[in-house]
Amino acid sequence: MPGLPVTERLVIAIDGPSGSGKSSTSRGVADRLGLAYLDTGAMYRAATWLVLHHGLTDPDVVASRVAAAAMDFVTDPSAPTISIDGTDVTEAIRAPEVSRAVSSVATNLAVRQDLVARQQAIVAAAEHGIVVEGRDITTVVAPDADVRVLLVADPAARVARRQAELGDRVDHAAVTDQVIRRDRDDSTVAAFTEAAPGVTVVDSTELSLEQVIDVICGLVPEHSGA
Ligand code: C5P
Repeated sequence: MPGLPVTERLVIAIDGPSGSGKSSTSRGVADRLGLAYLDTGAMYRAATWLVLHHGLTDPDVVASRVAAAAMDFVTDPSAPTISIDGTDVTEAIRAPEVSRAVSSVATNLAVRQDLVARQQAIVAAAEHGIVVEGRDITTVVAPDADVRVLLVADPAARVARRQAELGDRVDHAAVTDQVIRRDRDDSTVAAFTEAAPGVTVVDSTELSLEQVIDVICGLVPEHSGA
């Protein structure tokens, strides 16, 4: 395992709003340190994909259907995948209709309770450690993580990054909605707009991806988890 003695188990928690560079950063950190990688947003998106696929609207029905669903992951940061009830939805969960609907599923508190428990089980099972990214990782899912980061960036930079990712397929107003409106909705159930005590704020507005990865790797304590 590059960078870490094999006896150490390291948990790195990274929260942040959409477009802050969380996914690229988290994968880069996991890759550099030889850790597993979990995108908790992908779990909320997979649950949303299932809800849309079955046309569910009643919050109790949504919660019980999601609770009954099997979710499987590949936590390799170079090729992460997610399946729900046996269907690989890695690509499908990035569709605009999923992005539009995900906050309504993620604000269903019974769904959150279920997914948080699954996330904690994955973190506990990661043999060498894991980088976990989301909105409530530093506060709810893994508040005891060795490294806890809130990754932020100016709203304009976040919208521009998301637009660059999505290209011409999605117009500017839709991208702004995806980034700004979704953050507003999400912040009603997860406190990711301000750092909790002990969480390091990293502002990626003026930094390259490599620089952000350097900063976060620099926060790893020398003998964490040993
Ligand atoms: O990170 P990403 O933008 O893919 O997350 C999709 C959605 O999943 C967020 O907009 C939010 O509604 C939800 N989410 C959450 N808690 C997390 C991760 C994501 O509520 N830990």
